[in-house]
Amino acid sequence: MHDKSIAQLASGLRAGEFSSVDLTQAFLDRIEQYDGALNSFITIAEQAALKSAEAADRRLRTGKATLLTGIPIAHKDIFCTDGVKTSCGSRMLDHFIAPYDATVVTRFDQAGAVMLGKTNMDEFAMGSSNETSYYGPVHNPWDQESVPGGSSGGSAAAVAARLCVAATGTDTGGSIRQPAALCGLTGLKPTYGRVSRYGMIAFASSLDQGGSLTRSAADAAAMLQVMAGFDPRDSTSAERPVPDYGAALEDEIAGLRIGLPKEYFGEGLDPAVARSVEQAIDEYRRLGAEVKKISLPNSALAIPTYYVVAPAECSSNLARFDGVRFGHRCDDPKDLEELYKRSRGEGFGAEVKRRILIGTYALSAGYYDAYYLKAQQIRKLISDDFRSAFEQVDVVMGPTAPGTAFGIGEKADDPVTMYLSDTYTIAVNLAGLPAVSIPVAPVGGKPVGLQIIGDYFQESRLLNMAHRYQQVTDWHLAMPEMQDLG
Ligand code: GLN
Repeated sequence: MHDKSIAQLASGLRAGEFSSVDLTQAFLDRIEQYDGALNSFITIAEQAALKSAEAADRRLRTGKATLLTGIPIAHKDIFCTDGVKTSCGSRMLDHFIAPYDATVVTRFDQAGAVMLGKTNMDEFAMGSSNETSYYGPVHNPWDQESVPGGSSGGSAAAVAARLCVAATGTDTGGSIRQPAALCGLTGLKPTYGRVSRYGMIAFASSLDQGGSLTRSAADAAAMLQVMAGFDPRDSTSAERPVPDYGAALEDEIAGLRIGLPKEYFGEGLDPAVARSVEQAIDEYRRLGAEVKKISLPNSALAIPTYYVVAPAECSSNLARFDGVRFGHRCDDPKDLEELYKRSRGEGFGAEVKRRILIGTYALSAGYYDAYYLKAQQIRKLISDDFRSAFEQVDVVMGPTAPGTAFGIGEKADDPVTMYLSDTYTIAVNLAGLPAVSIPVAPVGGKPVGLQIIGDYFQESRLLNMAHRYQQVTDWHLAMPEMQDLG
């Protein structure tokens, strides 16, 4: 049961082959059996999950079910869930129970999906390895000594190990696509504004976007169908109709133009990963797509730009966690000043503190123009690069990450090397574009991701391209060896 697609499970539920309660119990059992070694969940909502499974079974009998009704999923612990702890991977929110649901959570509830629990993540979504979590690192199911990527590493590990059917994630600079690449999954980061950010704890508001980690493009289409849409509670949410994402999956891709940016195949890319990505591109040629070289000249500026913009926004967003309004409060402060200092000092981990310090500095009087304003100007140049690319091609392709999953601890003391993990993903967030990562031929037994970037609101096109590839290959069906997981 645990290895079936959303569509297969939905038809099994309708045919009465199993109930949502059976399905939910099967996944809860797998979590019990395997998650001790993986640490992919922060909270397991067993009772609530079984209750929603019962409700889903009743709904299935009425014939008013959706594709997601009764399907067990997990939410990244950045999405607020009414009554269930939302920690954001931080000691700061270790005791936080949100009084309301994020819009994404509400939409899945309304669709009848079953939430199994909340997944582990880098603290406040800052990281590329899941090692900054207050709840400890997540282990990659393909190699337990390696990281799953981050910051949505818990969601990625849980889906890869079949501990849930699909999971939500968020992507500020690569946090859906990079863990998807490192865990052999399909990770979709929608266009900025396509999915509501209401109730999704903010890291860098102009970059954050919710999306999904799934085992296939078809499952990603099913997830996006639920998540996408205008939300009056999010002023940056896009007010435009939501297409039927399943409808375009099978479209012909012959004649489509694929652009390969020369900057994405240069220094820093593991040659074995490059070969694997090139093989996948050959597959697209066989499917009739036209491939041409393009250039995104400002690519090298994406990381430095992001590491001004994201810390600046986070320093402002995280000001609310002060021990008074939100978050951990220290014991016995002698005055207000000490309450702030110690609460924040104890509540935040090292990476979050580093970002707050950088961001506060970049925004301070005298430095604002030199750093923040400059970064915003470069951000525009990066978007313009994509704008000209999409005048020549329909999609842009390249590697998702420069290498495969690295060892736990290997890059933890070297922030700059860690930051380079997102070298091919960050520009997409700066421009607000949609992109998907799909698994291609592994290297040394470890998954590799191909990134497909589209123009604004072209999610259907991306899912179509991903799906056509998955029809002629089976990398996405590979499953980590379960005996290694116990
Ligand atoms: N790895 C990047 C960072 O540490 C991106 C994280 C994300 O997308 N949430 O900021």
